[in-house]
Amino acid sequence: MAGSDTQNPVVIVGGGIGGVSLAGALRARGHLGGIVLIDEAEFPYDRPPLSKAFLAGERTLKEIALQSAEWYAEQDISLLAPARVAAITPGDDSVRVDLAEGDPLEASHVVLATGGQAVLPPIPGLAETTETGRVHTLREHRDAERLRTALTPGARLLVIGAGLIGAEVASTAVGLGCSVVLADPADPPLAAAGLDVARWLHGLHRVHGAETVGTTVESLCPTEAGIQAQLGDEEAPRVFDAVLVGVGIAPRTQLAEAADLEVDRGVLVDEFHRTSHPRVLAIGDVARTRGPDGHRSEHWDAAKRDGERAAATILEAPAPTAVAPWWWSDRHGLHVEGIGEMVPDARQVVRGQVGQPPFTTFAVDGARVLGAVAVDDPQAIRAARRLIERGIEVDPDRLADPATDLRKLLRGTP
Ligand SMILES: Cc1cc2nc3c(=O)[nH]c(=O)nc-3n(C[C@H](O)[C@H](O)[C@H](O)COP(=O)(O)OP(=O)(O)OC[C@H]3O[C@@H](n4cnc5c(N)ncnc54)[C@H](O)[C@@H]3O)c2cc1C
Repeated sequence: MAGSDTQNPVVIVGGGIGGVSLAGALRARGHLGGIVLIDEAEFPYDRPPLSKAFLAGERTLKEIALQSAEWYAEQDISLLAPARVAAITPGDDSVRVDLAEGDPLEASHVVLATGGQAVLPPIPGLAETTETGRVHTLREHRDAERLRTALTPGARLLVIGAGLIGAEVASTAVGLGCSVVLADPADPPLAAAGLDVARWLHGLHRVHGAETVGTTVESLCPTEAGIQAQLGDEEAPRVFDAVLVGVGIAPRTQLAEAADLEVDRGVLVDEFHRTSHPRVLAIGDVARTRGPDGHRSEHWDAAKRDGERAAATILEAPAPTAVAPWWWSDRHGLHVEGIGEMVPDARQVVRGQVGQPPFTTFAVDGARVLGAVAVDDPQAIRAARRLIERGIEVDPDRLADPATDLRKLLRGTP
């Protein structure tokens, strides 16, 4: 990998958490050259609130900005926004960056931080229904603003997919007084949280007034009365005012593909975020690690850490220590967090009682903690992080006992 050795700036395509954290980390680690951050939006903003406080109208776009305008000036980061990168052409000494409008740039390195876009499943009638403007996906602030106008009290909302985003929208919509049906054939959705916790979390929707149906949506049809949806083999279709499709994302790999970089369900990268061209890196939701165990993350913290790691790669500095993957979700007033991996075959140790927050479930192999999922218990997640990252051995029975002080377990004291 060539270092930041030319007079050309590092150009970051995408101002999500990955791109912004990379820009900040480059400066924090002493990069003196130019940094250009390009995003299609008016300014870089945070995505998690789009299904939570921003969707509920409790926070404005300015309030979810990732950084203030002053920060970019102080850090000497050139923010090009709104602007769209149309193509990148990697060469031996530099990478040419073509914008949809304006003069091209020459970069020492380009970092693709382009994130993902919502996937539309092949449901018969979805395309025709989309033309009515009543079908929604949620990735950008404009999506959230448009969806919010549909979430009026009494509005009938069908949410397709009960993963993180579907569940959060259902929760926010219930809070806004909508009548919500959440359809997902998975039993239970979010199984990565561990089956017991996932089942309880899914059941919470019913407790809070949403209806859950464990079926696929067979067809959609626009009618005068609203959108007709056939749910599984129910006798008659139901009618909704709006539909939110939350079945996952596809990485935005188009720039990489057009530049002949290796792409396979994401832009392929090594552990240092290098793509198949030494002057192009990829981070965040768009990047997938190479190899048989290769994976692509779709979580905020992973994108942030990727940015920090890619900065070290560009500066030829030591990479930050790897950390356990961490995610969170908020629904029906509860805060859910997960760390590490809830390996299904591992022993599940519950601290407290599932369904009575605060509680935490740990996945344990012998005396080693592999993962944890907690509801309203951030302290337990902080402890789990240290147990996982430092490989501290624990007595599972003591871990399960809510009376045990987790800080003592970290110190290995009885
Ligand atoms: C509604 C919602 C709620 C979420 N909630 C949570 C949560 O509670 N917890 C959690 O851990 N994770 C959550 N996530 C996931 C998390 O937000 C993502 O993992 C994270 O945003 C990924 O960051 P990124 O920088 O890789 O990509 P993104 O945040 O997607 O940013 C990519 C940026 O690149 C820009 N871009 C793409 N192509 C171009 C181009 N050609 N030219 C210029 N700009 C371009 C896009 O406009 C976009 O702004 C949520 C995501 C969404 C959508």
